[in-house]
Amino acid sequence: MLAGVIGLWQLSKARTFQVFGELYARVETPEKVVALTFDDGPSPANTPAVLELLARHQVKATFFMVGQNIEKHRELAARVLAEGHQLANHSYSHKRLVLHSPAFVEEEISRTDALLREVGVRGEILFRAPYGKKLFVLPWLLARDHRKDILFDAVPDDDTTQDAGLITSRVLGAVRPGSIILLHDGWGAKPGTLEAAGRILESLKAQGYRFVTVSELLALGGKGSPPSNP
Ligand SMILES: [Zn+2]
Repeated sequence: MLAGVIGLWQLSKARTFQVFGELYARVETPEKVVALTFDDGPSPANTPAVLELLARHQVKATFFMVGQNIEKHRELAARVLAEGHQLANHSYSHKRLVLHSPAFVEEEISRTDALLREVGVRGEILFRAPYGKKLFVLPWLLARDHRKDILFDAVPDDDTTQDAGLITSRVLGAVRPGSIILLHDGWGAKPGTLEAAGRILESLKAQGYRFVTVSELLALGGKGSPPSNP
């Protein structure tokens, strides 16, 4: 029994393996459609500028928000929702949900769900684990509660670089129909991300892509595909 549990835990550490639950890094679709996602906000340093950019392009995105940042900036979270974007759960404290008790992980998720409801979110709340980690306790809880864990397949690492050219080329090099693009609007100012987001929008629109929320993308793709190379 113990060996089995340890084996499952080791498997769960692999980036491409999910013990339980539904995991999406992209969807299979022939349509030129992608989902733009912004993590770690809301943040007064970035989110308003991101909203203005998206409004100029008439594009809806998905914001994976950190509960403690919603608590600090409720009006900003409500504004994101009011402007037609999708809000989703990115844990309460953005700790690595590694080797924590089920009660701790459950609290990280449920506290943020409650805050999202308070700012007006209705319907299914999607989840994205901090650092994209898939672990034994977390997938078990998500599966028990029939929750979807949303990853990404276009990852420019804009949390570690603010070189707009690099962020843009990494996204444009990875994107394909059904992609989920990961950018960050959380914490401190991210001028490179903002600049890159503008270039990505312009380039993909010129290639005939349209932008949808993650829930719209999942609906289009039908059954999600497992992450081949997140
Ligand atoms: Zn994050």
